[in-house]
Amino acid sequence: MSSSISRRNFFYRGVGLSAGTLMLRHFKVFGRPVGQGLPMIVTSHTNLTGQKALEAGWDVLQQGGSAVDAIEKAANIIEVDPEDTSVGYGGLPNEAGVVQLDASIMDGKTYNAGAVGCLENIKTPVSVARIVMERTDHIFLVGQGALQFAREWGFREENLLTEKARKIWLRWKENLNPDDDWGPPDHLRNRKNDQAYWEEFPEMENHHGTVNVLALDPQGNVAGLTTTSGLSFKIPGRVGDSPIIGAGLYVDNEVGAAGATGRGEDVIKSLASYYIVARMADGRTPQEACEDALNMIIRKYKKVNPDFYPSEKFVAINKSGEVGCATMRGRHNPKMSLMTPRGFSKYEGTIIHRT
Ligand code: ASP
Repeated sequence: MSSSISRRNFFYRGVGLSAGTLMLRHFKVFGRPVGQGLPMIVTSHTNLTGQKALEAGWDVLQQGGSAVDAIEKAANIIEVDPEDTSVGYGGLPNEAGVVQLDASIMDGKTYNAGAVGCLENIKTPVSVARIVMERTDHIFLVGQGALQFAREWGFREENLLTEKARKIWLRWKENLNPDDDWGPPDHLRNRKNDQAYWEEFPEMENHHGTVNVLALDPQGNVAGLTTTSGLSFKIPGRVGDSPIIGAGLYVDNEVGAAGATGRGEDVIKSLASYYIVARMADGRTPQEACEDALNMIIRKYKKVNPDFYPSEKFVAINKSGEVGCATMRGRHNPKMSLMTPRGFSKYEGTIIHRT
């Protein structure tokens, strides 16, 4: 489909790497990502479900649909995926074994936002957040109030704890304390060398995971959302950064959008998504702005704990269709998935603190 805003005519280096069915492509202009063209939809998710989600969102954009419609449709696909233990149905529960979901959505065109926190029993929390945004004058509903609101709007209540997530939660409980009575009898407990036991649920070790979806529609309007089951095994009632506008998500129709995953406490204190968008408004590329936010968080902690590198990953897009992605720490460069007039691709960002 032809874009209403002409693509930027940069010289670019495009490297097509075939990896199974996925094409990995990196477009750079002297180290800077080049505009990918409009419309565009991106997600922090890089698995096959992430790709399917983008394809669904892309269909909406190709038919002239809005950025908000496209991101919601894309995110719902990830939210209902039972295999994804970080978002929606199948997400890992809190320490009491209850799945509590957080989500937010923001529409740059109307400067509207909506969010839900600690929402139980609803598979698609971002759709509830969208109704908060469009059908109320509030922004953020939590807990029982959010659930009641969802019921009134016809959302079906379902048990969100899948068998897989329940088993992971029980395994986590078994290993919390070597001196309590969870787990097999004392005389059978020596599991240190039992590799199969430790490898059965790798998700138990990973307390993070969230999805950000950001889009630019054919009219050049920007929208974004963030949806998550939050930190796994969190204290019941804990709300993370994902539903907090400015923290886990921010959109400005004149600039672009940004979203966060990782330990939400740091993202809330730094209002990182807002910071990224503000940096882009000052002329930084999405890539530079994501890195700026991570460096800002490192600077804040420097005085109290110079070795503290929390687990954030940021993704961002600007109005020109440039993208960025950076993570605080790790061994592998972070990636994000993109759907643009050039097709599906993955963009590789940077690590601030390589471990
Ligand atoms: N940011 C989410 C939260 O703190 C969790 C995550 O992305 O891993 O709830």
